[in-house]
Amino acid sequence: AKSAGGNRFELADPEADARAITRHGLTTSLPTALDRGEFFIEYQPLVHLGDGSVRGAEALVRWLHPQHGVLSPDRFIPLAEHTGLIVPLGRWVLEQSVRQAREWRERHGGEEAVGPLRINVNLSPCQLTHPGLVQDTVDILERTGVEPDALCLEVTESALIGADDDLLKPLRRLAEMGVDIALDDFGTGYSNLANLRRLPVSVLKLDRSFTQSMQQFPADPVDLKIVEGIVSLAHSLDLAVTVEGVETGAQAEQLRLLGCDTAQGWYYARPGPPERLHELALVDATG
Ligand code: C2E
Ligand code: CA
Ligand code: CA
Ligand code: CA
Repeated sequence: AKSAGGNRFELADPEADARAITRHGLTTSLPTALDRGEFFIEYQPLVHLGDGSVRGAEALVRWLHPQHGVLSPDRFIPLAEHTGLIVPLGRWVLEQSVRQAREWRERHGGEEAVGPLRINVNLSPCQLTHPGLVQDTVDILERTGVEPDALCLEVTESALIGADDDLLKPLRRLAEMGVDIALDDFGTGYSNLANLRRLPVSVLKLDRSFTQSMQQFPADPVDLKIVEGIVSLAHSLDLAVTVEGVETGAQAEQLRLLGCDTAQGWYYARPGPPERLHELALVDATG
């Protein structure tokens, strides 16, 4: 009956009811989940397309709910934004991830082939407008002794569409300190490409939809042209291009040929515990 689809059936859909109940349960348990230590972070490697080496990882938060099990961020981030929990939660994710990056860097000490592993952390638009963002970030970097250039903050393209100077100021400060800013989900927001010049970003993260269109080999010629155009524009503005959602070797190869710099996706590794990244980086360094 589910495949009959359509909104007509929504009220009679038991799954929708379950979702509504779950949502209500989450609303009451979310505010205290941080204090109860129910969040944890998985890390997904970022791989250099040129030589296949692991260069860093993106931090992706999960909620181990006592009744519902592991919940993906899409289930609770909107709620956390709505309730304001996103600010302390985001700060916690940042601190945990930066600490993790320091540990990787310490453990990789002498191994020059690996290079210092970097960490990417997602920022919600609510954190962007929160006055403590720059100071919190500075404090965390100082407390952990991690250099700012080991950190990349990911902000969605849609959060910055039409952004005024007040919104960009904290990002500019962070960029001046050496923190990288990545424009996440790029290509979905219909932003003015000329606008890129005034944003303090150094990385474009091409949305997964572009990667999906590279599933066929050869890919649709129009899609190829679009990605080619974005990559050449990005490089002419001195921006690196990361692609996400790479699930097959064919996608990786086409995106490499198109000049993309870094890739992320199940083809390389699913998000996982921090030890996993250490192993991947190590294997990679030792051949
Ligand atoms: P995102 O930033 O675009 O993260 C990429 C998402 O794609 C992740 O989903 C990741 O698990 C998934 N993914 C990675 N490789 C592949 C692949 O090859 N194929 C497919 N189909 N998917 C892949 P996840 O972990 O469920 O996170 C969803 C979104 O939640 C993230 O999208 C991000 O917007 C948000 N999020 C995650 N952690 C945080 C956080 O700490 N703070 C904030 N504000 N948002 C977060
Ligand atoms: Ca992201
Ligand atoms: Ca993304
Ligand atoms: Ca996304």
